[in-house]
Amino acid sequence: MRIKAAVLREFNKPFSIEYIDLKEKEGEAIVDIKTVGVCGRDLVAWKGGFKNLRTPLILGHEIFGLYKGKPVAVFPARVSNSCKGSHSEGLCYSILGEQTQGGYAEKISVPMWNLIPLNDSGLEKYAAATCGVATIIHALKVAGLDKGSKVLVTGASGGVGIHGIQYLIDKGYQVYAHVRSDEKEKIVKGLGAYPVRSFEFYKSEGKVDGVFEIVGGITINDSMLSLKMGGRLVLIGNINGKDIILSRPAFIVMNEINITGSAAYTREEYEEAIRIISMDKVRSFYKVYNFEDINQAYYDIMHGSIIGRAVLNMG
Ligand SMILES: [Zn+2]
Repeated sequence: MRIKAAVLREFNKPFSIEYIDLKEKEGEAIVDIKTVGVCGRDLVAWKGGFKNLRTPLILGHEIFGLYKGKPVAVFPARVSNSCKGSHSEGLCYSILGEQTQGGYAEKISVPMWNLIPLNDSGLEKYAAATCGVATIIHALKVAGLDKGSKVLVTGASGGVGIHGIQYLIDKGYQVYAHVRSDEKEKIVKGLGAYPVRSFEFYKSEGKVDGVFEIVGGITINDSMLSLKMGGRLVLIGNINGKDIILSRPAFIVMNEINITGSAAYTREEYEEAIRIISMDKVRSFYKVYNFEDINQAYYDIMHGSIIGRAVLNMG
């Protein structure tokens, strides 16, 4: 079957819209993709930040569409039977779009196990928020913070941040949200977070129990300084894909700071995110692009002009 796809032929270069052969696999479901979110992870892959990836690639794992005419989410990874449901499910699977075809395409073939039926057909809102909310659900478990703790979230207006802070607030956490413009400050404030523009906020507000570091190397050396003794920093992303240099190792040692990574999420966590979005506990922030305008979407994300996610519609 011939389908249209956005193919990455060379890292850091525009995608080309091409017709490719859909590899139909026996016993799998073919989903008509209607909308796909552009994840921060896709951006790192696009830049060549994952050393194990080789072009050509068809990226995209935040896939929402129709299966036999009914709205479905596609769980973003291929998961082997031994990996399914295990404690480390998020560590042993292969994200769609990296080793196999992803969602920047008209259709995808995936195991039936990956299909999650949706109660409504508002696909864009799920494409914008599900991966981000599921990421924070998982990161919160990794962080092991007490209910009601004080946390700092960096990159709070991005796709993970803007949806993740709403989840944390709903769960009773006191959220400080780092943003870089007046407009973004107003939005996070409206969602119930305390907006911060300077990492020195703790000098007046007090130190925090946890940091959700979504931006990575650009902010980590500043964000960790807001942690209390024994505080936990969860590294969720590293958007520029470059090495992270810790400039104040003595601060980490003397304050027994815990730094841990949070890789992904399980299917159960992804389903929980879908439930939360369907109940309107998290409001989706996104900008819609036609699939053919994918390069414009990437340009806009790089220039920080999108609040939340860019979502690509197949039309
Ligand atoms: Zn994602």
